[in-house]
Amino acid sequence: MKASSDTAHSKPLSRESIIGLGEASFRKNYYSELQKKLIELECVNARSLALIAAIPDILMVSTPDGQITILNRPASQNSALAAAILDDPAIRSRLQEAVRTVWREEDFLSDDLTFCNQGTVYSLETRIHRCGADEILIMIRDMTSQRLAEQSLRHLAEKDSLTGLYNRRYFVEHLEQCHETPSRQFAIILIDIDGLKLINDTLGHLAGDEIIIAVSKILLDHFGDIGCAARIGGDEFGILLSGYSREEIQNKLGQTMAHIDAYNATSLTLKISISSGYSYHREGPLDTRMLFHEADHYLYQNKLLKESSVRNSLVKTLMKALEAKDFITEGHADRMEDLAVKMGNALRLPQHQMDRMRLLAKFHDIGKVGIPDAILFKEATLDEEEWKIMKTHCMIGKRIARESPELADIAELILLHHEKWDGSGYPFGLKGPQIPIECRIISIVDAFDAMTSDRPYHRAISAGEACRLIRESAGSQFDQALTQLFFTLV
Ligand code: GH3
Ligand code: MG
Repeated sequence: MKASSDTAHSKPLSRESIIGLGEASFRKNYYSELQKKLIELECVNARSLALIAAIPDILMVSTPDGQITILNRPASQNSALAAAILDDPAIRSRLQEAVRTVWREEDFLSDDLTFCNQGTVYSLETRIHRCGADEILIMIRDMTSQRLAEQSLRHLAEKDSLTGLYNRRYFVEHLEQCHETPSRQFAIILIDIDGLKLINDTLGHLAGDEIIIAVSKILLDHFGDIGCAARIGGDEFGILLSGYSREEIQNKLGQTMAHIDAYNATSLTLKISISSGYSYHREGPLDTRMLFHEADHYLYQNKLLKESSVRNSLVKTLMKALEAKDFITEGHADRMEDLAVKMGNALRLPQHQMDRMRLLAKFHDIGKVGIPDAILFKEATLDEEEWKIMKTHCMIGKRIARESPELADIAELILLHHEKWDGSGYPFGLKGPQIPIECRIISIVDAFDAMTSDRPYHRAISAGEACRLIRESAGSQFDQALTQLFFTLV
């Protein structure tokens, strides 16, 4: 505003007026104005220099034919970067091309460049501006950290943190975008891990996570590059594929299953089992909701078909793991079974109870598969926290047994096999005849066999000594009547 009112009231300093006047007259009439203009110019120049120095971006100037020179000396690392940019023939010629375009056709042009220097990938934003009669200004901003921040934000919004697959939100949005669009050869594959709850409950959540991560890696291997593979639920995965025939999809699924088999062959305790279903759209407008529904239906069908066999094999795997920990050593189980059967016969227990007792003798400790080795094999006495963990093996054992048709009948007995006659046992503190007789028998024969064989925490003692100790606990830990029967049998 001020500048325009000044000009309105002062005489214009034109070239003609200067040429047409003598030196003396010029000095008299215009010297002070000229001096004022010079001071203003110096001020503008100083301001421009300060601006150039203050700008963190790299500034360059170029002649119209592409002779580029660096204009400023920004922070030292940018200064080195500026020199490196000019040394790079590809970047240099791209800048020169842009300069020529601006000179010929435009006043301004901006461009994003990627530049690799000494192992670092830079994201550069360039702005090219006409700035004088024969000069073009090039401004280069290092956007690397912003781009990386954007990338990691996008990653957070789109990816699942545990597995690195796309998350449910991304999957759903992607699917919505495809809805009702004309498409060819579109497939949705849904996958659910079998029995993950059992793995969590027995081997712990970390083991469950390990399975989820292993499945994700396998899916990424087979579908990561050709489609959108996402974790759409706790143990559920969705894959969107486009441009593949039914046969190709079947093949891909077959390869995935083979990969899982290979994983299982190398892993002793953690075995993966998955159920899957897929739906296929040949061509025309896509109804993604129907297609998802169909895939889900096939997944459910697949799960139902293999459910009991999967659970059974999971239980077998856990039993193997327990054998590996030396806890169902054949000898121990057989000796216990022998003694328990003798007692059962003496008590004339019915066949179904005898059968349950036999199984209980073998599998009462199956829940120990979920107890960390550091506690299971600790030689010193367990502290309070460790005991708490140790005691969970009854509940873990029950959960495992429930999943197997062969063991479901003894699930409750496994839960109660550490109850004591006087109510001081666990998990419920049941008393006397509230405790099933199979458990009361097993607790005597288990104690006897444990005392008479070597364990991590003690050496074996003689049968006589063991009977003496059992007698001491008759009426408190053990059913007194049963201990007496036991002594007559050993
Ligand atoms: P099914 O064979 O019928 O699939 O049964 P499932 O035991 O696999 O259980 P389901 O698929 O019905 O439920 C998924 C379970 O996965 C429930 C939850 O306990 C577990 N889960 C969900 N998210 C996570 C996770 O991030 N980590 C772990 N370890 N477990 C998870
Ligand atoms: Mg599942």
